[in-house]
Amino acid sequence: MGKIHSIETMGLVDGPGIRFVVFFQGCYLRCLYCHNPDTWPLREGQEISAQELLEKALRYKPFFQKSGGGVTCSGGEPLLQPDFLIEFLKLCKDNDIHTALDTSGFGVGKYEEILEYTDLVILDVKHYNQEDHKMLTGWGMKELWKFKEALDLKGTKLWIRHVVIPDLTDSREHIENLKAFISQFKNVEKVELLPYHNLAIEKYRRLGLEYKLAGTKPMDKEKLVSLEKILKGQ
Ligand code: SF4
Repeated sequence: MGKIHSIETMGLVDGPGIRFVVFFQGCYLRCLYCHNPDTWPLREGQEISAQELLEKALRYKPFFQKSGGGVTCSGGEPLLQPDFLIEFLKLCKDNDIHTALDTSGFGVGKYEEILEYTDLVILDVKHYNQEDHKMLTGWGMKELWKFKEALDLKGTKLWIRHVVIPDLTDSREHIENLKAFISQFKNVEKVELLPYHNLAIEKYRRLGLEYKLAGTKPMDKEKLVSLEKILKGQ
């Protein structure tokens, strides 16, 4: 059995085409800007078997298949439930469904087996150096390097995402260093910068959690466009 937080049946941003997105429960990281802190505790969430989850996805297959879409495992962190994840991805592949994995690369191993059944990885890169990665997420980068080894070995297609936060990760220097960091990954098809927003403040309040970026304004969209140009070398 696995633990999921929720399902979105018409996802449009987590992979190509229309996606059946499964948000897995549980995450070890504590990203300062996380807008889903309710996905953190692994003991919470809804129990479901891989077969039950597949049956739900199959109901939507005619819609997502026609659009060139498929299933995306997101979270939380799907890599924290490797056996359930492998079973579900395998069932998807047995049923001719495109599979994407939206992850930060922080799991508990079995990466090669997971990637065996994964068509696309959407990797959320939090930072390019150990110290700032720890400041932003509470964890260093050791696990990410292990995940990268498996990615290199399997040659999995990669989309990379990075959240840009005012005064923390929005300088020209930061984006140039990020670009150099990304160049170490193979098979990168797409790189996206995502603007930081503070819409989750109220959720933190309800959960009795401290929102550490309370004084930070949402990322300016025009500045983000200029940073994207730096990233693309324009
Ligand atoms: S990895 Fe994702 S779910 Fe986990 S804390 Fe960071 S933003 Fe939140």
